[in-house]
Amino acid sequence: MTGVRLTIQTEPWLAHLQTMVANRPGLVPVIKGNGYGFGVARLAARAQELGVSTIAVGSLAEARTALTEFAGDVVVMLPFFAADPQAEVAQDPRVIVTVAHLDQLTALAEQGTGARVIAEVMTSMCRHGFPVADLAPVAEVAAGVDLRGWTVHLPTAANNLAEARSLARAAQQAAAAPVWFSHVTDAEHDQLRAEFGPDTRLRRGTDLWLGRRDALATTATVLDVHKVVRGQRVGYHRRPVPGDGWVVVVAGGTAHGIGLEAPSTNRSLRDRAKTLTLGALNAAGRARSPFEIDGAKRDFIEPPHMQSSLVFLPAQADAPVIGAEVPVTVRNTTATFDEVRHR
Ligand SMILES: *Cc1c(COP(=O)(O)O)cnc(C)c1O
Repeated sequence: MTGVRLTIQTEPWLAHLQTMVANRPGLVPVIKGNGYGFGVARLAARAQELGVSTIAVGSLAEARTALTEFAGDVVVMLPFFAADPQAEVAQDPRVIVTVAHLDQLTALAEQGTGARVIAEVMTSMCRHGFPVADLAPVAEVAAGVDLRGWTVHLPTAANNLAEARSLARAAQQAAAAPVWFSHVTDAEHDQLRAEFGPDTRLRRGTDLWLGRRDALATTATVLDVHKVVRGQRVGYHRRPVPGDGWVVVVAGGTAHGIGLEAPSTNRSLRDRAKTLTLGALNAAGRARSPFEIDGAKRDFIEPPHMQSSLVFLPAQADAPVIGAEVPVTVRNTTATFDEVRHR
């Protein structure tokens, strides 16, 4: 195989998943988008093996995939719209939809089919949900559906206990149903569970699937190596190389999410803007690549191509052989891998 590969050290990764499921009663694994780099189907199958009763996906299309791999309930977290071309997926008796709009809730209630619904409460994140002031009429309409819970999705960068508590109280006052929290800490979840009952749910993705970073390695195949001399013009843009050395052609380009790294939250806005435009240029006007060759991250010669990148390796370094695998730093939630392999 050539390409960009995710290698999972199966034993520690599984041990982490099992420990987290065992220690967090009410944990609902979140599986959405690119499946945190593993893929939705793979994680749904894994959730089945972990023995959880429920998983949460982002979209109806993801639910369709998850239903084939997972035998329990599948919550769809994006708000339900009956006009969605995929809306029939919600007819599956194992699907639970999230509702954040009164007309949609009303339509589901009028169907009279006992649709399984979680109603979303608006939080300070301001994404989706019913404002607290509207919860009484929402609860009235929800009497016409199978209300499985309230959802409270909080911002990630906050101490959320006070808000979580006050919204959950308001929701349960409107109608008794379990509360499904997103983005509360372990300690906050313990407290909320003590307060709102053992049915309290906690939805988690990143800390679950990507919580053992040391069990996950990402590598890229060296596709070609060419000796070059200082000033030699190479690449689509015929830019001169900065010194004697090698052009290393490495698997991994925009199709894999290379060069489109989502910014990590602990960096400055300026850093993030730089990353997004691939504009973090060094003195020679080149961007640092995520590929590590002979012990260091090497510079891009030009922006990544669709499936490969041209990287400059100075003459002092040891050139890799064709077919070698070199470490590449990617953000798993935006990466597309050619292969996911268990070790
Ligand atoms: C994505 C998502 C999550 C999981 O977020 P992580 O930060 O990956 O744990 C939880 N709840 C909702 C509603 C989400 O959309």
